[in-house]
Amino acid sequence: MSAAPRQDLLSLTPDALRAALGEHFARRGQPAYRVDQVIQWIYERLAASIDEMTDLPSSERSALGEGFEIAEPEEARVEVSKDGTVKHLWKLADGELIESVLIPTSKRLTLCISSQAGCAMGCTFCATGWGGFDRQLTAGEIVAQYRASRRWVEARDRGPISNIVYMGMGEPLSNRKAVHPSLTILNQGYGLGARRITVSTVGVVPGILELAQRPEQFRLALSLHAPESQLRQSLIPLEKRHPLPQVIDALRRFDEAGGKRITFEYTMIRGVNDDLSLLPALADLANQVRAFVNLIPFNPIPYQDWTPSRPERIEEFARGLEARGVASAIRETRGRDIDAACGQLRAHTLVQIERSAPDLVDPAPGPVPADLS
Ligand code: SAH
Ligand code: SF4
Repeated sequence: MSAAPRQDLLSLTPDALRAALGEHFARRGQPAYRVDQVIQWIYERLAASIDEMTDLPSSERSALGEGFEIAEPEEARVEVSKDGTVKHLWKLADGELIESVLIPTSKRLTLCISSQAGCAMGCTFCATGWGGFDRQLTAGEIVAQYRASRRWVEARDRGPISNIVYMGMGEPLSNRKAVHPSLTILNQGYGLGARRITVSTVGVVPGILELAQRPEQFRLALSLHAPESQLRQSLIPLEKRHPLPQVIDALRRFDEAGGKRITFEYTMIRGVNDDLSLLPALADLANQVRAFVNLIPFNPIPYQDWTPSRPERIEEFARGLEARGVASAIRETRGRDIDAACGQLRAHTLVQIERSAPDLVDPAPGPVPADLS
């Protein structure tokens, strides 16, 4: 008879964790304060295993370990860029590889996390898109990237992590079953303010509407990349399913929900989406939902011979937006020397693993998840 799977303590929201632990310790006739001890080990002391919980009697540690686990990823690779950007490649329990990136600026330390192993969206400018979809991450696997990164920065006195962006691998709003609880856990469990957490989406309308309904003020970034449907379709296949007018409508509802900031991400690709004639439409969309626009030079990927827009053109866009009443910022590309663009480290590592041990890599893209709507 095989044992029931253990529950990952990192995947539970604080309320659910409290309830599950309360039941567990009550069943064992243990005092109620054991619950607080474990909760402190999870959210404050960042225990990487139940064995570390040394203020529990060893009999309680092993009993806890029978029903629960802490599913920590293994650090498969870490790369530190000259500009201070740090990229981690994490190996999950089943061998899947995912990335997270730490991006320091003078005022903040932002952690960029992944929400899926791979991505099913197939955006043509994105290394993750080209790599295909492997599987959804659990809430615990999303949160574990934060815990492991925090341990890494604390050991080097580089902390604290001030902001989190869901801009690593995957489309967070196609994994809402795990992303919703992960937001709750980061906010309520680890005490990260909702306004410091940004979910980035390529335009999954039902997901935007769900996020609008949450009471917390999580921020939303729309990966826009083109202000017109036809051009956008050539970059983002999802545009066919959720066309821009619908996406903007959903954003309007998000905006109307109050106090919630929207950002447009606009990756500038030379000769593809940087024509000045696009400026009025871009400004119009931004004005409709009071969005702030991030202009990002395209980061070259192995699968396309596109290049970033010229700096002068990016500045022209910024000035053109300003003239039309839209605030924007030009984002420098960070960590280019360590493949910090979305999905690149994993892509390169898979190629390296494939060369040395072809059997380890499954060449077929995984199944498409059911809840892609
Ligand atoms: N799937 C979500 C979040 C992950 S992608 C989304 O698409 O929004 C995070 C951001 O990186 C997105 O804005 C995406 O458009 C951008 N991006 C992907 N590949 C890029 C590249 N090669 N150069 C610049 N930005 C890129
Ligand atoms: Fe997926 Fe975002 Fe990359 Fe598109 S840009 S393929 S949605 S990770």
